[in-house]
Amino acid sequence: MNPRYITIHSTQNYSAGAEKHSLALKRGALRAPKRPGGNRIGYLIWHFTVDQGLAIQHMPTSEQGEHADFDGPGNRYSIGIEMCEESGSNKQATVERTAKLTAILMKKHGIPLKNVVPHYHWPRRGTNMLHKNCPHFLMDGGKPGKKWRWFQGRVNYYYQRLE
Ligand SMILES: [Zn+2]
Repeated sequence: MNPRYITIHSTQNYSAGAEKHSLALKRGALRAPKRPGGNRIGYLIWHFTVDQGLAIQHMPTSEQGEHADFDGPGNRYSIGIEMCEESGSNKQATVERTAKLTAILMKKHGIPLKNVVPHYHWPRRGTNMLHKNCPHFLMDGGKPGKKWRWFQGRVNYYYQRLE
């Protein structure tokens, strides 16, 4: 893959941080039904998971993940980042770390801020929720609004400070 977008998600899993997600991926525990036009490999996989203290990379950014829109452009051209929501964790720290990682990846791959998108951005054909409410805590009424624009501002803040 030659990444042109960065897709931001949240796990909606309240019992695991980045390390547990990493181990689950490594064990092959995150299965998804493989079907034509749907999941292509039978597993979920994405590039990075971020929590309050860590950012873990699971796969090279030169390979396509299965995190966004099946065989659509979200999977074909984007780096997938999952934010953890473990109960008791510091969500603010997780979001700031995610914004920093996103800025570094923009710089590294020449990706503009307008191509940093929420999972919501990518239509998921063949599902009953065409535009997923993800990352749900950065959406307003299920779609990008004020909170998403705030997050874009945080990404830009870190991007402007990179050498
Ligand atoms: Zn998502």
